[in-house]
Amino acid sequence: MKAILTDITKCIGCTQCVTACKMVNNLPPDKPREWQKNDGLSSRNWTSVLRKGDFFVRKQCRHCIEPACAAACPVGALHKTDFGAVVYDSDKCLGCRYCMMACPYGIPRYDWDSSVPYIRKCILCYDNIKSGKIEQPACTKNCPTGATIFGERDYLIEEARRRINDKPDLYSDLIYGEKEVGGTNVLYITSKDCPLDFLLYYNNRIEKDIKLVGEPDFESAYPMLTKWAMGSVPFAFIGMGAIMSGIYWVVNRRQRINKENKEIENEED
Ligand code: SF4
Ligand code: SF4
Ligand code: SF4
Repeated sequence: MKAILTDITKCIGCTQCVTACKMVNNLPPDKPREWQKNDGLSSRNWTSVLRKGDFFVRKQCRHCIEPACAAACPVGALHKTDFGAVVYDSDKCLGCRYCMMACPYGIPRYDWDSSVPYIRKCILCYDNIKSGKIEQPACTKNCPTGATIFGERDYLIEEARRRINDKPDLYSDLIYGEKEVGGTNVLYITSKDCPLDFLLYYNNRIEKDIKLVGEPDFESAYPMLTKWAMGSVPFAFIGMGAIMSGIYWVVNRRQRINKENKEIENEED
């Protein structure tokens, strides 16, 4: 499977990856929304660069091996390809936005300017590579420092491990995405001074002073974490049905008793 490896220690924050992505995907100028200023991603901006202290961090879809967005979609509008990309079929999309809620990184964005439901995010340049238009994603091709590179996932993990072993004082001993959320096809290595846990949607919320109860399980695939909730939906429906039937029975009984009492009162009059 193909993948991207981004090395935070090499990124200079030039945003050429952002520009290249917009060009190759013919994305129109962005319309900033209040709620999108947070990380720069939008339906028209599929990758962004965030500043964290002295470091620059690219953000994009992580192309999870077991994508929670696809697991949550009730009509299969998102799916994982053998190539490695998680892609989207707008013809199937209902516009329910479950994918947006399910993604552990808060990636998919809704196109509010479209008259039909439209979810947008990085697709690993899948269409353009498959059609032969380009050989690698525009973002990796146009990065001037090699901070973000494209290749086979296994090879990129070996390369990441090699860099960490060569410079153990510089790098954190962790390949983000190797196991996180069950593994992803967009991987990161970073400086010890720039941990990347904040890219997780949960941690974004913590940074906004909204406290998380408990800790996310970084190494489990998110569909496994949500499985219990999805599995309980039929029981919730049955339970709600039983409760509503009970309420109906009580109300009905009260009305019948009132009616009988009134009839007795009328007969006595
Ligand atoms: S990062 Fe989010 S949108 Fe991208 S594949 Fe994973 S769950 Fe889906
Ligand atoms: S892989 Fe393609 S679609 Fe994704 S951020 Fe890079 S250029 Fe954009
Ligand atoms: S093009 Fe490369 S160096 Fe420039 S911001 Fe993107 S990843 Fe960083």
